[in-house]
Amino acid sequence: MEIRRAVETYREELIALRRDFHAYPELGFREFRTAEKVETYLQSLGLETERIAGTGVAAMLDGRRKDGAVLLLRADMDALPIQEENSFAFASMHPGVMHACGHDAHMAMMLIAAKILTEMADELEGRIKFVFQPNEEIAGAQLMIDEGVLEDPHVDASLALHIWSPIESGKVGIKAGPVTASMDVFSVTISGRGGHTGYPESAVDPVIAAANVIQQVQQIQTRLISPMNATAIMFGKVQGGSKNNIIPDEVVLEGTIRYLYAAGPGDLHNPTERFRKLVTDICTVHGCGCTFDIQHENDAVVNHPTMTSMAFDVAKEMLGESCITEHASMACEDFSAFCDQVPSVLVFLGTAREEAGSTYPHHNPKFTIDEATLTTGVELLVRGAMRYFERYS
Ligand SMILES: [Zn+2]
Ligand SMILES: [Zn+2]
Repeated sequence: MEIRRAVETYREELIALRRDFHAYPELGFREFRTAEKVETYLQSLGLETERIAGTGVAAMLDGRRKDGAVLLLRADMDALPIQEENSFAFASMHPGVMHACGHDAHMAMMLIAAKILTEMADELEGRIKFVFQPNEEIAGAQLMIDEGVLEDPHVDASLALHIWSPIESGKVGIKAGPVTASMDVFSVTISGRGGHTGYPESAVDPVIAAANVIQQVQQIQTRLISPMNATAIMFGKVQGGSKNNIIPDEVVLEGTIRYLYAAGPGDLHNPTERFRKLVTDICTVHGCGCTFDIQHENDAVVNHPTMTSMAFDVAKEMLGESCITEHASMACEDFSAFCDQVPSVLVFLGTAREEAGSTYPHHNPKFTIDEATLTTGVELLVRGAMRYFERYS
């Protein structure tokens, strides 16, 4: 219980840090003030910091064994382009920008974990790389990896937390295998031949083709890939036309394809390849053409079995087994870029509590967290690191 006491000692500082980050949110790759604050704090602990991927910050903590394994702990730093609708004193000072995903909490928890782990350094059988990552919302992890965050020294495993409002406060979500979705983002331009709505037979109508596309692709899951493979094809933007009596030349559809399983190019159960073919076929039936712009944005976070059982054991000791739920989400997390390279685990830290007003979904203008859960997060990080070096490295 010594760790819990240490965490409790810093509760007020933890909350103050989170509120400060919350008040001054910054968008991805523009986390200038945030990065400086993180650096200053880590340096005050005696750690040397390094800038990586522009606004990213990394710092190494050496334990007792300098040749021991290296565990990476990751917190993300970016906020979202949302106008905050909360009225508390530490609400966003930056119009149109808001920490609406809990990354403010991730940074605060990680800084306090760094403080406690620094104090315990002579008990650590390995080394910790603290990584503060920019631009999680638009796949910023890969840039850090491209710039070498997993090397020098080589990272052996990684651990991250995400505060999670779909799970109630006091509980955590831990599950081996895929826990967040792979995502491709698409823009499809369906082109026909414009004309008069009084003479539709003389035009080639891209609107009805688009309507069919939106409906028919919903059958990809079950008819073309297994119902057991969770897939969500969603349209977020439908654009076309200029006036009610004009058939437009083209309609543009934009959206996301999310799937909770591995599917590479050419795999029969790759929903994006199925999507591309079905949309092309539907457009052909309508006499329309179509062009695609499809980008793969994130892989699925796939929790490593050994790292997952480590996190499970730590959470069970802290909270009891009844407080651990198996949880997976169709949201995305670019922590997948770390998972693709080294054995990793992402733990969801439940934060929903009616009295704390923290039941809004992530990315909502009223999103907030239950600050009572912050100490649990710090304890998970500290104990997770200790356990990793004791038994798993
Ligand atoms: Zn988010
Ligand atoms: Zn997030």
